[in-house]
Amino acid sequence: MAKYIPFKTDMRHPEQVDACIVWCFDPRMQKVFRHFVDEMGYKHFDPIMLAGGAKDLSGYSSEDLRDALFAQVKKSVSLHKPKVIALMAHSDCGAFGYLKAFDNDLEKERLEMEKVLQEARQFLKDNLEGRQSILLVFVNEQGVHVL
Ligand SMILES: [Zn+2]
Repeated sequence: MAKYIPFKTDMRHPEQVDACIVWCFDPRMQKVFRHFVDEMGYKHFDPIMLAGGAKDLSGYSSEDLRDALFAQVKKSVSLHKPKVIALMAHSDCGAFGYLKAFDNDLEKERLEMEKVLQEARQFLKDNLEGRQSILLVFVNEQGVHVL
């Protein structure tokens, strides 16, 4: 059955967004996403939600997946000129096999996630034209850690 949901959408196009945010689509990460956006003061932003967040820009993923995510980031840059690109990874992420993939060791997991994020940032620095600043974001039970 067809359904109509009335909603007024502001169709004015922002010349520039505050951020392009690569975030994991994990449902546990959605409330903290909104909190992050509010705390950072981002009004307009391009959310790119996919399993593992920034994982696919790192060496932990395949070249095909990296190219697919990179194409989305490039599209955000060309269409909306984000001031910042935020790359996120989080604790207990299914895309990495959850915490058990790190022997249930939170410190070991955190160090690996930092490596993932640093690799992702380096990939963008090496391949993205332009000078966006790149934020690295790690989320765990305690909160959002902007590295
Ligand atoms: Zn995840």
